[in-house]
Amino acid sequence: MAAISLLDRYKHGFSIELKHAQYPWLNQYGTGGCSVLLYLTLFAIAVGVASAALICKFKGAPAFRAQATSDFEATKVMMASCLEQDLCILDAQLSAINGSRGSLHLNQAWTYHSAAVRFAGQVRTAEGGSVWQLIVSCTESIANAAAELAAARAETAGRSLPAKTPPCLFDPTHGPSTTHVEWAPPNSLPRAVPVCGTDAKRIATGAPPLVRMVQSFEGVVPYYACYGLYTHWLLGFFSGFDPFLTARLLSGTPIGAHLPGAAASVRRAPIPPELCAEFRLSD
Ligand SMILES: [Zn+2]
Repeated sequence: MAAISLLDRYKHGFSIELKHAQYPWLNQYGTGGCSVLLYLTLFAIAVGVASAALICKFKGAPAFRAQATSDFEATKVMMASCLEQDLCILDAQLSAINGSRGSLHLNQAWTYHSAAVRFAGQVRTAEGGSVWQLIVSCTESIANAAAELAAARAETAGRSLPAKTPPCLFDPTHGPSTTHVEWAPPNSLPRAVPVCGTDAKRIATGAPPLVRMVQSFEGVVPYYACYGLYTHWLLGFFSGFDPFLTARLLSGTPIGAHLPGAAASVRRAPIPPELCAEFRLSD
């Protein structure tokens, strides 16, 4: 048994002597009540950490997987709802010129419409990456239908067929753009963007453009404010144009940083050097 001074006996009483008798290792690491408390605390922390690790291993991972599955299902519902809204708009646009039935362009537009309906109908039950491919295919078909619709309208009015142009950036369901306007996203630099005639007139008179609002995990917001959620939805509308056009047009917005990678994946194209440089700068 270690020697205990009279001062120790005076300060701590005979309990300290008992501790030394039962726990000789206390001599090596200290004899004060604070040291014992410290070691008990450390032991409790170690037990806590070990328990947390065990929970993570045996319960946390399934909980994480359940949350991921729940988020994915919610994402599919949001995307399917968005596509259904797009299709309602397209349906109304096509139905509005039903008098032109027989037009090759209008018939082609309805064919694209049917394809888009088929793709949209599969989104809610699709699994994995096929969801994103369905979304791209759906909005690509909607854009093709809109282009055919524009051709049918021109045909009906006796005008020459319009050139193929990108959709209105503010809302691709507005149809092919007819002009460019200068627009600066919040906290970003102005740039020329393709827009429909209605939005061009609104901006010319100082009115805000009719930006497409969509459902997100944070509520209803402009589609470009949803980070990566609507990248594939947007890329489908811009099929047939420069794969990185949307990345350039929406640079500086929340979706902007997600578009180069998504476009490279969807179009199997390398990200252009200037966009790579912008990423490094933004990092
Ligand atoms: Zn527009």
